[in-house]
Order: sequence, then C-alpha cells, then structure tokens
Amino acid sequence: MSESFDRLVRALRKLPGLGAKSAERMALHLALERQDDAREIAAAISTALGRVTPCPECAGLSEDGELCAICGNPGRRQDAICIVERSSDIAAIEKSGAWRGKYHVLGGKLSPLHKIGPDKLNLAALSKRIEGGGVEEIILALSNDIEGEATCHYISERIIGGREIRLTRIGFGLPSGSQLGFADSGTIKSALESRKTF
Ligand SMILES: [Zn+2]
Repeated sequence: MSESFDRLVRALRKLPGLGAKSAERMALHLALERQDDAREIAAAISTALGRVTPCPECAGLSEDGELCAICGNPGRRQDAICIVERSSDIAAIEKSGAWRGKYHVLGGKLSPLHKIGPDKLNLAALSKRIEGGGVEEIILALSNDIEGEATCHYISERIIGGREIRLTRIGFGLPSGSQLGFADSGTIKSALESRKTF
C-alpha cells in the first residue's frame, strides 16, 4: 500500500472522463512502470501552468499574455469572427483550413440545468469587440443542440442586436448535439461552407 499512490489516483480522477479503474491503471503506469514518461508529463504540466494564458482578444490558447498566433496575424480577415465554445474547437476548424477570419471562445454554452448563465460565458468581451466596430460577419459555430440554440439566440438578440452584421450559423452538416472537436475536417469544411443566415 502507498499513500502517495492513492493521492495520485485521487488527483487523476479529477480529469474529465476518467473513472476509478482507468485512474488506477494510469497511476500505476506513471508511478511504477513508466517513470520517465511521468517526469516528462510533470515537467510539461508545470511549464504549461506557468506560460499558457488565454489570448486577450479571443480567449483562445496563447502564451505569456500575448495575442495568439491567429489574432496577431494581419493576413487573417479582421472583419469576421467565428464564435466557438472551446479552444479545442479552434484547433478543429483550423485543421479544416476553411476559415480565414478570427475567433471568439465563449467558454461553454448557456445551460440553466448546469447553472451556466450569460455571466459565466465570455460574452462581455464579445460585446466589446463588436462595439469596437469593424465586424462585418459573425459565424456561430456552437453545438447543434438546445443549449447551443439558446446561446445563438442570446448572442443574436442581446449582443448583436440591430447591428448591420451578417450573422450565420454552422452545424447543420454536423450530427445533432455533436461537438466540433469530434467532427472530421471534411465535415467541418462543408458545415462552414453551407452556413445559413441565422
Ligand atoms: Zn486570439
């Protein structure tokens, strides 16, 4: 028996989607069988904790408080924003190569059931970006489910209001309730290309 091992299992169980059995198997792998891997993982986590920050503009992944590579790229469309739930959605869309504009990460979607109201999402920053002017097009790339739908309506009515901005939504090519991260590049590309006015 090892108290440190038990502590590692308890810590690993905090990872999303990791049950008791998997956490135990992983802890054994890290602490006993593959200590070199474990040291590398520990070092990577430590570095990431110190350096990874949300981009001050889009809230996507960045480093040391700087603009991310997309927001800082003058070659991207500056007048178009694709709104996504998570940073991982940006990676999925980028892989498809079908979007040359910018992004905005909400950090989730509205969900009364999980007590996620507008104040819990990155909406104030979105308002600010829109009020700053120069935005001509906004794409809603949110989940194709009831909560995603409610979030789209909130953004359309409360954030964009009566502004002259072309508002479209993708997701019609994606299976219901799917998350972008699980869709392949071809599916994302056609969903983007067939986006509809919202
Ligand atoms: Zn950014």
